[in-house]
Amino acid sequence: MALACPKCLGETEVSCTNSSPAFVERWRKCKECNYSFQTVEFIKVDMALLEYANDIVEAYKGYFYKEPKQKGKG
Ligand SMILES: [Zn+2]
Repeated sequence: MALACPKCLGETEVSCTNSSPAFVERWRKCKECNYSFQTVEFIKVDMALLEYANDIVEAYKGYFYKEPKQKGKG
């Protein structure tokens, strides 16, 4: 089931998608009233898990951490 238009609850379709490794942005357009809006899709993070992961990274930082190679953005 596609997202309903926030204005009229009409049916919407994706008009453009912009994806990156971290998130996906979509431009949707209402078929009824032509209203355009954006949606964002990203990984849902459990805060407890994130805290745990940070602790692990922190604990083993000096052990195996290497400076990541610089990459161009985009
Ligand atoms: Zn609409």
